[in-house]
Amino acid sequence: MKEKLYTIELHDALLSGDECPFCYLERDLEQKAIAFVLGSSYMESDTRDQTDRQGFCRAHTKMMYDYGNSLGNAWILKTRMKHMREGLKKEMASFKAEPAQSSVFGLLKKKEASEQSGTSVGSWIRREESHCYVCGRIEETYQRVIDTFLHQVRNEKDFMELVKQSKGFCIHHFADLVDACGKGLDRKEQEKVFPVLFEQMNRELDRIQEDIDWLIEKYDYLNKDKDWKNSRDAVQRTMQKLVGGHPADPVFKNQK
Ligand SMILES: [Zn+2]
Ligand SMILES: [Zn+2]
Repeated sequence: MKEKLYTIELHDALLSGDECPFCYLERDLEQKAIAFVLGSSYMESDTRDQTDRQGFCRAHTKMMYDYGNSLGNAWILKTRMKHMREGLKKEMASFKAEPAQSSVFGLLKKKEASEQSGTSVGSWIRREESHCYVCGRIEETYQRVIDTFLHQVRNEKDFMELVKQSKGFCIHHFADLVDACGKGLDRKEQEKVFPVLFEQMNRELDRIQEDIDWLIEKYDYLNKDKDWKNSRDAVQRTMQKLVGGHPADPVFKNQK
C-alpha cells in the first residue's frame, strides 16, 4: 500500500502565516491525539494496552489534565499505575547494592558509570520515561509530513516558490528538515533546495530579531507614541522561532 501523503495539510500550513508550518501541523496532531486518547478510545483494550505500556511524558500528562475528563484520565491512570507498580516492584526486588566509593577518584568514576547506565532501578525508570503514547502518535505522522515535503520538492514545480512565500521554519524543526533533505534528496535537488532554505532562514531570523529589538525599544519612554510595528507579539514568536511550539496558545480543553 502506498503511504499517505499530506500534500493538502502541508500546503495549508505553508499558507497559514504561522512562524513554522511544522509547528502548525504538530499542534493539530497533538490536539487530535489528546482528544483521541481522552475520547472513548481509552475504553478500547488495544489503545489502553498501548497507553499502559508507553505512558505519557510530563508535557502531555499536563495537557491531559488540562483537557479535562476526570473519568477518562482515571481509567488511563489506573492501569498505567498497575504497569508501573509491577515493573518497579520487580526491579526493586532484584536490586543489588554496590559498595560505595569513598575516594574522590572513585566518586568520579561512579558518577561516570551512573551517567552511562545508572542503577538498575534508575535505568528502568528512565526507560519508562523515554516513551510517550501521544509523542509516538505525533511522531508517526510528522515523519510522513517531512516525507511529503521531499516528495513535493521533487514533484511539484512551484513548491519552492510556496516555501519562499511562507515565514520559514522554527530552528527546532529546521534541523529535521535539513537532515531529511540531506539524506533523501539527490545532489542536484539539494543544490536547488538548500540555498532557498538557508537564505530564507537568514531573512526570517533577521525579521524576528528586528521585532524583538523593537519591542524593547518601545519600552523607552521616548518611543511611547511610536508605532508597535510587528512587535506586539514578538515574545511568543521569538520563543517559537528558537525552540518551536506556540507558547501563547490558550489551554486546550474538551469542548463537549
Ligand atoms: Zn516548528
Ligand atoms: Zn509526550
